[in-house]
Amino acid sequence: MDRLENLVRSNILKLSPYSCARDEYEGQGAHVFLDANENPYNAPLNRYPDPLQKDLKRAIGRIKGMAPEQIFLGNGSDEAIDLLFRIFCTPSIDNVVAIEPTYGMYKVCADINDVEYRPVLLNDTFQIAAQDLLDATDEHTKIVWICSPNNPTGNCIKHETIVDVLALFRGIVVVDEAYGDFSDAPSFRKTLNTYPNLVVLNTMSKAWGAAGIRLGMAFSSTQIIDLLNKVKYPYNVNSLTQQEALQMLADPFQVEKWVKLILAERTRMIESFKLLPFCLHVYPTDANFFLTRLVNAPSIYQYLIDKGVVVRNRSSVKLCENCLRITIGTKSENQELLAALRCYR
Ligand SMILES: *Cc1c(COP(=O)(O)O)cnc(C)c1O
Repeated sequence: MDRLENLVRSNILKLSPYSCARDEYEGQGAHVFLDANENPYNAPLNRYPDPLQKDLKRAIGRIKGMAPEQIFLGNGSDEAIDLLFRIFCTPSIDNVVAIEPTYGMYKVCADINDVEYRPVLLNDTFQIAAQDLLDATDEHTKIVWICSPNNPTGNCIKHETIVDVLALFRGIVVVDEAYGDFSDAPSFRKTLNTYPNLVVLNTMSKAWGAAGIRLGMAFSSTQIIDLLNKVKYPYNVNSLTQQEALQMLADPFQVEKWVKLILAERTRMIESFKLLPFCLHVYPTDANFFLTRLVNAPSIYQYLIDKGVVVRNRSSVKLCENCLRITIGTKSENQELLAALRCYR
């Protein structure tokens, strides 16, 4: 990896971040808070939340096996994605490389930040050679985006491929493991001490069943976490979210139970799909959804809409012609989808 100073935008390196009242006072034991122009009434919501979410990071650190200093928390992982662009990519000069097809937010954030986006097509098994990603980079490439398990294809990118990119690329490598809780593949979090250029993304939006509270996580070196903290909004994770997340983290076994249920349903759904006369292929998946190629996906998509069942039509995505992406729901939701499909003519 290049020296971090050479990868970070110079304005960000020089930036002195906004200093909020709750940053300045670090001590314990004060009981009169007249430092932040808050209303003294309407406790506890009258108070600004902890800008660095220390309690929450300790709880997440215990579950994920990470030190709090290696954790960034954001308003969804989407916040971390946008911040990484703003920290590393100088608009209209730098570029990023990503696998294709993948999660749409990387390109949207690139476009918003006026950063060139270089997609590299996966092969027909939705894998890629590390060299193909590296060949797409040049001296202005700051980040390589790898989503694994990948959305919308569902599969994990081969471990050795990601290791090779981490070892051979001199910039930042983001491994987005939003669906990692559904997969047996070991998390790249465990390799953070080996690769100083690695950022791993997790979220509470999928297996943790809490998309509504908007809580995303980035794990990385303390240097990169410090940069994320420097650029984020001072109070980016609100107190209701911090409180609710702490409660959910107190019961990690609930998540294990959900994952087991969803994986059992996924097996059942895939077997049922393979028996549908208009189903051409179901792709292997490591996530809580699967991609399936149908004889006429757009018309089946519309048919389902008319029955009140919404799936994701990926027909216009490269390599996903005539494909629908199906999220695993409850048993009865899945049953409703199958019942509708069995009546399709
Ligand atoms: C759903 C998803 C996320 C989650 O984003 P949040 O902002 O945390 O809800 C991140 N990455 C991928 C690939 C996803 O599919």
